[in-house]
Amino acid sequence: MGPATADIKVLEEMFLAGLDICRINFSHGDYEAVIKTIENIRTLNKKMNRFVGILGDLQGPKLRIGMVKNNAVELINGNEITITTKECEGDEHVIYITYPDFPKDVKAGELVLIDDGKIHLRVTSTNKKDEVRASIISGGTLSSKKGVNLPNTKISLPCLTNKDLRDLDFALEHDFDWVGLSFVRSVTDIVELKEIIKRKNKKTRVVAKIEKPEAVREIDNIIDVTDGVMVARGDLGVEMPMEQVPMLQKMIVKKCMNASKPVIIATQMMESMITSFTPTRAEVNDVANAVMDGADAVMLSAETSVGKYPVKVIEIMRKVIEQVEEVDSIYYRENTPETKTITFVSDSICYNACTLAKQVGVTAIISMTNSGYTAYKLASQRPKANVFIFTDNRSLLTALSLVWGVRGFYYDKYESTDNTFIDIQKFVKSQGLVKDDDLIINIASMPMNERGRTNMMKLSYVI
Ligand code: PEP
Repeated sequence: MGPATADIKVLEEMFLAGLDICRINFSHGDYEAVIKTIENIRTLNKKMNRFVGILGDLQGPKLRIGMVKNNAVELINGNEITITTKECEGDEHVIYITYPDFPKDVKAGELVLIDDGKIHLRVTSTNKKDEVRASIISGGTLSSKKGVNLPNTKISLPCLTNKDLRDLDFALEHDFDWVGLSFVRSVTDIVELKEIIKRKNKKTRVVAKIEKPEAVREIDNIIDVTDGVMVARGDLGVEMPMEQVPMLQKMIVKKCMNASKPVIIATQMMESMITSFTPTRAEVNDVANAVMDGADAVMLSAETSVGKYPVKVIEIMRKVIEQVEEVDSIYYRENTPETKTITFVSDSICYNACTLAKQVGVTAIISMTNSGYTAYKLASQRPKANVFIFTDNRSLLTALSLVWGVRGFYYDKYESTDNTFIDIQKFVKSQGLVKDDDLIINIASMPMNERGRTNMMKLSYVI
């Protein structure tokens, strides 16, 4: 979301074009603009009977330079420059960095990358107090407030900065479905964030943004504790050699599917459409490959937030996704349940519902859930069938907008299993989602009123 999506009419067209979830990036925009955006999303959800979710993106320990003279300073290869922690307007001799411990953290020989790695500096010396000298390895035009990456430096900033804590409070107060944490370095960053959310009695789920080598090294543990993952390729491709990003993307997506955690592929997916009416063929391929890898979501950033074609870019992305989803090989990823776990019974039901769906060709797998657990489990098998989730947990409906192939419905008449199945079947038929003689699978927990874990499966024809 951004200035280009501020008009509710544009946002409505984006909803129609195929938008499922909106990212609000706390790195940009003020609370007043964000409140308006939240209102617009929720107004449209009501009007259009949709469950578009909201993901708040916490900036994390993102380092930035300050303002520079005339918003454009030319950095020449081979020259030396001072990076200071004393606030000033930057020029070709000195630039201000917003991180006070920068001189203490860096060492001579380490790289300083600015503006997504477009400008490379190498540290020559530091006074360990307030000034660092660096030589310009690869210069260019530097504009104000650009991001800084230190791929070789151990940064001592906490993962949740004071700004993040304020933004998190705001996100929780406004019942965001998801919060993303930038520059995660360790599993404890996610644990800490989840503890704060729990202490505030909120259900907001957490997305770990993977953009640091430390996070890649700890990926298994991070996936274990997080609710979702973002492959944040913009910073990842600066913090690590960019040629490693394609295989890292595949590795992370596969691990997330195995763990039944939704995964987002982010950044530069349709970058040229910030200004151009059509994407490049390479961008179309990139989106298609992300879907083939098994991503739950493909994300747009500047393309929609400040781009010229915020609706068109979604339409094109949707068409690419639909085209890939015609291909059988993206479906039915075997994800066999682990035995001897407390969720073994429900995991087995979800697994076998998908196996049966493949064997007999069902139109829909219909699940009743309060926690959403079966939605994540079913989706991770990527069944070639609609996954309809019925729940009386309203907040779950918008949260599930991030999960592959799932469509949620509000339902609160938990009667006998027989009556509920008949009722739900009538509903999906009335909506044109299934028709007479289609095969469907129902999974649920019996007895229904105990709201336990899923333990039964029924295969039937629609009548
Ligand atoms: C990224 O680096 O890929 C990314 C998603 O970061 P940001 O939140 O800065 O867009």
